[in-house]
Amino acid sequence: MFTLQFLGAAQTVTGSRFLLQIDGKRLLLDCGLFQGGRALRERNWEPFPISPEHLDGVVLTHAHIDHSGYLPRLIKEGFRGPVYCTPATADLLSLLLPDSGYLQERDAAFANKKKYSRHDPALPLYTEAEAREVLKSLKTVPYHQTSRLSDRLSFEYLHAGHILGSAMIRLNYKRKGAETVLFSTGDLGRSDQPVIKNPETIEQADFLLLESTYGNRIHEDNDILSYLQALIAQVVQSGGSLIIPAFAIGRSQSVLYFLRQLEEAGRIPAMPIFLDSPMAVSAVSVYCSHLDEHDFEMGSLMAEDCVLETGSVRMVKTTEESKALNRFKGPCIIISASGNLSGGRILHHLKSRLPNSRNTVLFVGYQPEGSLGRLISEGKKEVKIHGKRVAVKARVEVLDGLSAHADSEEILEWVSHIKHPPSRIFLVHGELEAQEGLKSKLEKVITSKIVIPEYLEEVQLA
Ligand SMILES: [Zn+2]
Repeated sequence: MFTLQFLGAAQTVTGSRFLLQIDGKRLLLDCGLFQGGRALRERNWEPFPISPEHLDGVVLTHAHIDHSGYLPRLIKEGFRGPVYCTPATADLLSLLLPDSGYLQERDAAFANKKKYSRHDPALPLYTEAEAREVLKSLKTVPYHQTSRLSDRLSFEYLHAGHILGSAMIRLNYKRKGAETVLFSTGDLGRSDQPVIKNPETIEQADFLLLESTYGNRIHEDNDILSYLQALIAQVVQSGGSLIIPAFAIGRSQSVLYFLRQLEEAGRIPAMPIFLDSPMAVSAVSVYCSHLDEHDFEMGSLMAEDCVLETGSVRMVKTTEESKALNRFKGPCIIISASGNLSGGRILHHLKSRLPNSRNTVLFVGYQPEGSLGRLISEGKKEVKIHGKRVAVKARVEVLDGLSAHADSEEILEWVSHIKHPPSRIFLVHGELEAQEGLKSKLEKVITSKIVIPEYLEEVQLA
């Protein structure tokens, strides 16, 4: 028996969790948190479909919370098996998970204080201490090394080119001399991503879990450096600030990399760049320390020093320093998390800076349906932050050229390397519209059956 159940990232972009049951073994590929609108977040509170103590292991693709953030809850509910990940992912999880627990606790406390939660009292999904428990279960597996899960089952990690440590999973199942390969792309990155290595390609798989975030979109082919240069020139002229909500891990470092290049080339004036996220600050060190994961350009730059740490960048660590930024006058750039405005210090910056037309907010990452980020990026003139109404008078810009996800052309290009088409391709990690767009494009170029699974749907693979 070989079944696959979609416990998340089905017709949505968060909550990546795929349950495999193979010959009595139960394995979870990714263990993500649902983020975005209330209906999605409520799923984090639903009982896990099988008793977590009956799970044999979790194999993670990367550290982002929508792929890892349910782990503390899984352990809290009885899971005791190993959690496999790459070494860099383990380092990033040691920052991300406790921070996620801390944010859960803080947001619950804040909701209780301001009395805006529907639940009384509002509770955290898990605490910082519970999140730290996960770190004891991590088993690191380098890229390209076969890891045995049982006599018949093994897996290997390939570079996904999404964030530091990100991997695709090739799962091998041997039975009666035959081998079945299930391949999961996790979040498929892009070949021109700064800092990290490019995604690898594959020639064969029997079943493919394929990400589809931008399945119906093509990233603007804009010159990111020129775009940022022009935008920053306008910010300086208006005397306002540029606020960049960015995931602490991945996008923040990419943004710093580009800003550093502009600064070095004298294309932007010297101005303070505040990295206001303790986790993003720590992640910068992790990024700089995993030399084995850097692409050629980053590798040669790193020969001198940690290129992400120098220049006008000021690392904001304490809450007091962060609050002091509210009083900072004059042009500056503030990079803060979370990237999709689901929590974190970015909300305080937006509360104080959205009502001022001199300021600019630049979105550089995907904003899930129903999220605050989606509302602002789509032009809503008033939003609610921490239960308070906030007027959106600041200029709002969206730059998707910085995306860490492949667009439809890049997904098709990646698929074109597969010489032996999978019997089924499951589109995951995308909203339905994007998935339908990708499905019709794929059907023109590959003979595989393309499936758009539903939440909790279970399919028989063998
Ligand atoms: Zn990701």
